[in-house]
Amino acid sequence: MDDATKVFTQISAFLEYLGPECAATIANVTPQGELDHSPKFPFLCSRHYADLIRKATEPEALLREILPHIAERENVAGFVDDPVGDLPAGKADCVIQKYDRRALIVSTATCGARCRFCFRKNYPFQNIPDVARQVGDWLDTHSDIWEVILSGGDPLMLGPGEFRDLVEAIAMHGSVTTLRIHTRLPVMRPDVAMQHFELLRELPARFECVLVSHVDHPDELDEESQMVFGQLKYSGWTLLNQSVLLKGINDSAETLEKLSRKLFTQGVLPYYLHQLDHANGVAHFEVSDENARALIEEIRKRLPGYLVPKLVREIAGEKSKTPV
Ligand code: SF4
Repeated sequence: MDDATKVFTQISAFLEYLGPECAATIANVTPQGELDHSPKFPFLCSRHYADLIRKATEPEALLREILPHIAERENVAGFVDDPVGDLPAGKADCVIQKYDRRALIVSTATCGARCRFCFRKNYPFQNIPDVARQVGDWLDTHSDIWEVILSGGDPLMLGPGEFRDLVEAIAMHGSVTTLRIHTRLPVMRPDVAMQHFELLRELPARFECVLVSHVDHPDELDEESQMVFGQLKYSGWTLLNQSVLLKGINDSAETLEKLSRKLFTQGVLPYYLHQLDHANGVAHFEVSDENARALIEEIRKRLPGYLVPKLVREIAGEKSKTPV
């Protein structure tokens, strides 16, 4: 099966694949006239994620994450193109530095699927030729950096050769002791994540390795995500998860409790629950701070402390995430 058969770029083909059994779900998520057939942030969904929707206990939640809604076209006061201040923190074409002695690499524009609430949906991604060389050159002149975070897009969407070159370029710099990868591939494209396993297994011998997955709903976790997380954990990676609190997707105590418990069964600890970043086109996903705090209070009663994520918001220019 080639890659083209594993992703949908056309909404019509995606809906056809979901089939008549999903018709009522689709109509609930995007009633007549509310589906945006030509969204500014292009549609992309993996076949794996479509299969998750088909077998989900709450398919509407997963569909909302992926299906463009006309509400994305609304201009809402306070929602901007660069909500977390990536652009002023840019240090080189692919390097962002917001925090002392830590650097984030926007390693690729490509994702396994496109989330409609993405905080970088308006980010001016460039095709960066030779990310490895650029990162290596930048680290040559920044010997105080001890943690490098690979972000994107999704860093595991780099080809195996490019990904290895990037990691090798970082490993040349002895100051970097921790490598962190932010990825949504365990739930979006586990097949692609597995392509990197030979290298991922080697890395804990060279760095402290942290993988921060992005999972928002328990129905996103299945036996394939379990396989990816299990292999990483066995290899010595620390596994954490961050979620975004999203209206109509995971804004209930039942869903958040189930998510934390299911993550734990797959070897992953809940880390952050983010309040929505105010990117243009995502306002319809917002949950109020008052409701967000009430949800955290409720799951605190239901779960041990190690399964309760920290409720935070990213404020552009701040030196850390801000507790809500
Ligand atoms: S995977 Fe991450 S970067 Fe890609 S669309 Fe989703 S939230 Fe945005």
